[in-house]
Amino acid sequence: QVCFIGRSNVGKSSLIRALFSLAPEVEIRVSKTPGHTKKMNFFKVGKYFTLVDMPGYGYRAPQDFVEMVEAYLQERHNLKRTFLLVDGVVGLQKTDHIAVEMLEEFGIPYVMVLTKIDRASRGLLLKNVLEIQEFVKENTQGCFPQLFLVSSVEFSGVHLLRCFVAHVTGNLPTVDAC
Ligand code: GDP
Repeated sequence: QVCFIGRSNVGKSSLIRALFSLAPEVEIRVSKTPGHTKKMNFFKVGKYFTLVDMPGYGYRAPQDFVEMVEAYLQERHNLKRTFLLVDGVVGLQKTDHIAVEMLEEFGIPYVMVLTKIDRASRGLLLKNVLEIQEFVKENTQGCFPQLFLVSSVEFSGVHLLRCFVAHVTGNLPTVDAC
């Protein structure tokens, strides 16, 4: 499994749709944990891997959300990588820092993905990328050093991210350099 987390409105559903735009046969299952207002969606890609879409977090995240996400992240031993989505226009926000702290505390390997890059000017995007790279270098242990930049509108970066998901789930045969 891989899982996708991010603030509400960060562009998570759009990105998942873009990632699976070439795979219409993906099976979607919604978690039925009783009592939870927010649900996790499971996108099963044949026998290859499952992408878990966590509910978006925000300032008013209900307690059951926190419990569900924390329980999932701590108990899921077949979780290969977590993808933390950050809005490329506004950069890291307070709630994103809380998510980073949680992932660091649990010792879960994760990757940051900058979304909506078509909406940021080149200068703003560069500023956000440099700030995040500096933050990752100075403050994190479990974060992959390479940022992924995507736009679900223009599809930029989507294919590379798709390949990376295939890679971390063991579905990308390594090709010998020639
Ligand atoms: P979620 O709440 O994280 O699932 O976010 P959504 O995927 O629903 O996106 C939130 C808003 O951002 C919607 O209005 C989307 O159309 C917009 N959006 C999402 N991804 C992109 C993107 O790559 N570029 C642009 N310009 N807008 C986007």
